[in-house]
Amino acid sequence: MTTEVEIELEAAVERRRNFAIISHPDAGKTTLTEKLLLYGGAIHEAGAVKARRAQRKATSDWMEMEQQRGISITSTVLQFEYRNCQINLLDTPGHQDFSEDTYRTLAAADNAVMLIDAAKGLEAQTRKLFEVCRMRNLPIFTFINKLDRPGREPLELLDEIERELGLQTYAVNWPIGMGDRFKGVFDREKRQIHLFERTAHGSREAKDTIVELGDPRLEKLLDRDLYYQLKEDLEVLEEVGPALDVEKVHSGKMTPLFFGSAMTNFGVELFLNSFLDCALKPGSHNSTIGEIPPTYPDFSGFVFKLQANMDPKHRDRVAFVRVCTGKFEKDMTVNHARSGKTVRLSRPQKLFAQERESIEEAYPGDVIGLNNPGVFAIGDTIYIGQKLEYEGIPCFSPELFAYLKNPNPSKFKQFRKGVSELREEGAVQIMYSADESKRDPILAAVGQLQFEVVQFRLLNEYGVETHLDLLPYTVARWVASGWEALEKVGRLFNTVTVKDSWGRPVLLFKNEWNLQQVQADHPELQLNSSAPVV
Ligand code: GDP
Repeated sequence: MTTEVEIELEAAVERRRNFAIISHPDAGKTTLTEKLLLYGGAIHEAGAVKARRAQRKATSDWMEMEQQRGISITSTVLQFEYRNCQINLLDTPGHQDFSEDTYRTLAAADNAVMLIDAAKGLEAQTRKLFEVCRMRNLPIFTFINKLDRPGREPLELLDEIERELGLQTYAVNWPIGMGDRFKGVFDREKRQIHLFERTAHGSREAKDTIVELGDPRLEKLLDRDLYYQLKEDLEVLEEVGPALDVEKVHSGKMTPLFFGSAMTNFGVELFLNSFLDCALKPGSHNSTIGEIPPTYPDFSGFVFKLQANMDPKHRDRVAFVRVCTGKFEKDMTVNHARSGKTVRLSRPQKLFAQERESIEEAYPGDVIGLNNPGVFAIGDTIYIGQKLEYEGIPCFSPELFAYLKNPNPSKFKQFRKGVSELREEGAVQIMYSADESKRDPILAAVGQLQFEVVQFRLLNEYGVETHLDLLPYTVARWVASGWEALEKVGRLFNTVTVKDSWGRPVLLFKNEWNLQQVQADHPELQLNSSAPVV
């Protein structure tokens, strides 16, 4: 029998879509986010997100470090409505604030949008983020941006994605012209052409004129050569390209692909509509009691990100929780699986850009920010009812390594406590040299910012001044086959062996090339780029 709660949950899940954008800096993530919000009616004029950011910079001093560097450390969740759906955009920190949090955010996402600059194609950060999506078989929607500028041939871009990522592509729309001659896109499903007009800085929704493919006006509306180019491209696509297979999209094997220009709003609305039709709704999650559907009546969720010192007035910490099942209600008392304690969830927050807004309830697929009095760590499960725990969020391959030194012996205790707490919280990974004589902890991070946060917090929260000795390694691999297998191999050149916080062997390589060499010489070593948290 379906209960009232289940009906309510089903309706909530039905209208929710959640995604994160993966891209390389400068591909246009901020711009696209803004345009999506514009179409979603969450803001009324594009530019508002940036303006708000600038305003906040001027008026808020919530974190000294943020001010010093003029960057945003906070990743936020943007919520907006479109076509009666509630869309949750999980903002992944990028640029200089790239850190393990960027990867972890993908653990909370149901879909990913891969944003690519048409002139540049696949870039380093996008590839890394794509690998994390692949680990989870996330559906990936590709938006090829900046068609209003000269870029690479569309067919060449498709080919690059297929070849290098091993991802089948299905172009949902196709660009007509490029750069100054970008006229619009062809919607392959409806077989219509959307001709766009540029609006001033793309601050309003783009006006688009829809013309059927067979319309006799077309040859005039499009330049003749563009019209023939379109026909030729379409023939190639129909001949060699696979048909759209939604199942493959949902299992992350095929990506629907869109062309457009976020800045001028070309193609953004078409993209949003197709995304809503095809994206995965909040789904089931693996747990210690099996796979649990989102309509499971009791509330549960997991922590995927922690944030310290967001507001100097409160000096508080926020734990971001992805709601997996049931309905979340303010002031709820939940069980904390790791400690076995109960926690009352007061002051839940929803975050829009930097503004906090108190929330009363949340459903599967939503993200809530909880006040964290030091209880929560990355990957923790909270639940009511029958005890359950979700699969933890793995450690991701760090790329920067440094010995962390405490020059003041009288601060040893605080130093040790600080390092241990920051590690538990997931601010940084801690490793140790396999050589027992070297006892300083090694900070292992995905981004430079993590080092700075650790040093800043050790000083401000634990009163310990530290310094870093950078190590010349850039790639880490967990040796899944264990210590014994590693010993059998003997000495490896240009690498160093360290152990992670759980005593597992990790090899650090100077570069990818060294890694490839070791892999080629010792195929029996199973090397992994991520490892479970135990
Ligand atoms: P992010 O680093 O990925 O967040 O990128 P931004 O959204 O800040 O964009 C980087 C730069 O590219 C900015 O100067 C944008 O104005 C520009 N940009 C973004 N989208 C487009 C586009 O569709 N066309 C053109 N010509 N420029 C764009």
